[in-house]
Amino acid sequence: MNDITKNQRWDHLDRPSVEALDAILGAPTHVLDHGFVRVIDYMGDEAAIVQAARVSYGAGTKTKSDDRGLIRYLMRHHHTTPFEMCEIKLHMKLPIFVARQWIRHRTASVNEHSARYSILANEFFVPDPMELQRQSLTNKQGRDGMFSEEVSSAMSETIRHHSAGSYQLYEELLHGWPWFNEDGDRYVIPDNPFVPDRVEQREPHEAGHGMARELARMVLPVNAYTEWYWKVDLHNLLHLLRLRCDSHAQTEIRAYADVIALVVQEWLPNVWDAFEEYQTKALTFSASEAEIVKLVLARNPGAVRKMVHDNGLSAGERREFFTKLGVRDAD
Ligand SMILES: Cc1cc2nc3c(=O)[nH]c(=O)nc-3n(C[C@H](O)[C@H](O)[C@H](O)COP(=O)(O)OP(=O)(O)OC[C@H]3O[C@@H](n4cnc5c(N)ncnc54)[C@H](O)[C@@H]3O)c2cc1C
Repeated sequence: MNDITKNQRWDHLDRPSVEALDAILGAPTHVLDHGFVRVIDYMGDEAAIVQAARVSYGAGTKTKSDDRGLIRYLMRHHHTTPFEMCEIKLHMKLPIFVARQWIRHRTASVNEHSARYSILANEFFVPDPMELQRQSLTNKQGRDGMFSEEVSSAMSETIRHHSAGSYQLYEELLHGWPWFNEDGDRYVIPDNPFVPDRVEQREPHEAGHGMARELARMVLPVNAYTEWYWKVDLHNLLHLLRLRCDSHAQTEIRAYADVIALVVQEWLPNVWDAFEEYQTKALTFSASEAEIVKLVLARNPGAVRKMVHDNGLSAGERREFFTKLGVRDAD
């Protein structure tokens, strides 16, 4: 017994754990051509959310079905802080252009692989030819319409070639260029497509005098891969998933969000159900739209009441729904 616990009595607590998540800790799920997501660690389970909520309501432990109901109530009413009691830490490998979108979600803790300190790997996201689409004419942030097979294959090959050329240049900058031109002040490599070929070899460059990594990286395109450890609480993770699993999000970031959505489903199934019910699959109406819906429904309140009662909503949900619709539960 150490000094902290000496002469004290306390109720020992077990660390909350979720078997389904423990089973996949550390296992990478592959995303895109070279990326992955893997769970490094997590904190909390559904009981932790319920426990936090009950502390605020001053109530004791209840049954499992009450827990599910409480989680749904919290989600429905945007009582978000209990969801912050759960956290997850992921190791992700993702193209830099996806990372740039991901990092906009500011409420996470991030440690990224340092391209100042380390040399980046020769790995670039090159989409499958069939993934290459035309610019959408209706959505400036979207894609729509296929190219011919021949064109998409040529485009994909060009991207691959460009990425390889960039990496070659990166390596040459890092390792020092053993050639320089007639003026003697510009190092160039004769067979590199990025530099002029009117060069003559003079003297080998001294080893170890390549360009600093922090500078050389600037020639790499944004389809190069980066890696990071990313930790976030559940409330902010759900916010990200709502935006990035959505059809408006870019396909490549969705690929990552969809994998993490599966992880959350395994970790916290009742939270996920509630999230779908009240957020991702729910609709919101503007004030004007809601007015129209109410006017239409007011024409036949009896049928509305029957439909609501037949739908399997809980008593609380029914009550709230009738209030929203402006329809009385009974005449
Ligand atoms: C489909 C799509 C298209 C997009 N297009 C663009 C674009 O063209 N250009 C562009 O720049 N971005 C774009 N974004 C990014 C977007 O504007 C948000 O930056 C991103 O989705 C992160 O959302 P967030 O700020 O709510 O999340 P987080 O940063 O995770 O924040 C979560 C919540 O915390 C609160 N919060 C966090 N930080 C602050 C703060 N400093 N002050 C006040 N409240 C805070 C807010 O309530 C916020 O909603 C796009 C996003 C999507 C999904």
